[in-house]
Amino acid sequence: MGRITLTNIDRAYGKLKVLHDINLNIEDGEFMVLVGPSGCGKSTLLRLIAGLDQPSAGRIEIDGADVTPVTAAERGLAMVFQSYALYPHMTVRKNLAFGLENQNMPKAEIEKRIGEAARMLEITDYLDRRPGQLSGGQKQRVAIGRAVVRNPTAFLLDEPLSNLDAELRISTRAELAALHGRLKTTMIYVTHDQVEAMTLADRIVVMRAGRIEQLGRPLDLYNEPANLFVAGFIGAPR
Ligand code: ADP
Ligand code: MG
Repeated sequence: MGRITLTNIDRAYGKLKVLHDINLNIEDGEFMVLVGPSGCGKSTLLRLIAGLDQPSAGRIEIDGADVTPVTAAERGLAMVFQSYALYPHMTVRKNLAFGLENQNMPKAEIEKRIGEAARMLEITDYLDRRPGQLSGGQKQRVAIGRAVVRNPTAFLLDEPLSNLDAELRISTRAELAALHGRLKTTMIYVTHDQVEAMTLADRIVVMRAGRIEQLGRPLDLYNEPANLFVAGFIGAPR
């Protein structure tokens, strides 16, 4: 399961209101993409869902249970960052194993999960290398692999491709789509790239200045943007 419901979410940093009354229901297995310009609150929203930050008001539910008081580790979600955030002193294998070892998972189960994730993401050949010996694209596949081995309720991905060059962005995007097709796990994916949004999303949330401007399927947003801002973002002629 992986249905995520946000109700009346606000977040303020001091006097700066970053999110205003966000209401959003993400279905189990859905690939939901959050788009919007830099500073509109995408990362803040993802961090609230992850449990890395707390809302100023409102309620977050996973599969109907209020998780507002639940710690990030206990929410069962896996986050992937733009910066990869790999442990530089550990091998790839250890990077993948580390979180599972901390949960006292049996060694055989850890090995099985690493093997499967590595095959899926084609990183089997790099398992004994350290992150410093990998290209950007390889590092990001390891970061995604580290999320996959945790078998999360949902993946939260914050601009995971934006450090990659154009060609790698396209191939890694296709791998992510294939991964979702295979795992069918809920994905919440932040990007400011409308092509990524249009190609990956079941539904797109267009954000502006801490508010949801429009929510809909890619083609619906393309054909019927609610306003010029959405039209500009989704790429329809103005
Ligand atoms: P996005 O990911 O869409 O670029 P963010 O969620 O990172 O946007 O940021 C939204 C707004 O919140 C920005 O104005 C940013 O400066 C502000 N902000 C984010 N984190 C903090 C923080 N820890 N303290 C103060 N302001 C913050
Ligand atoms: Mg951001």
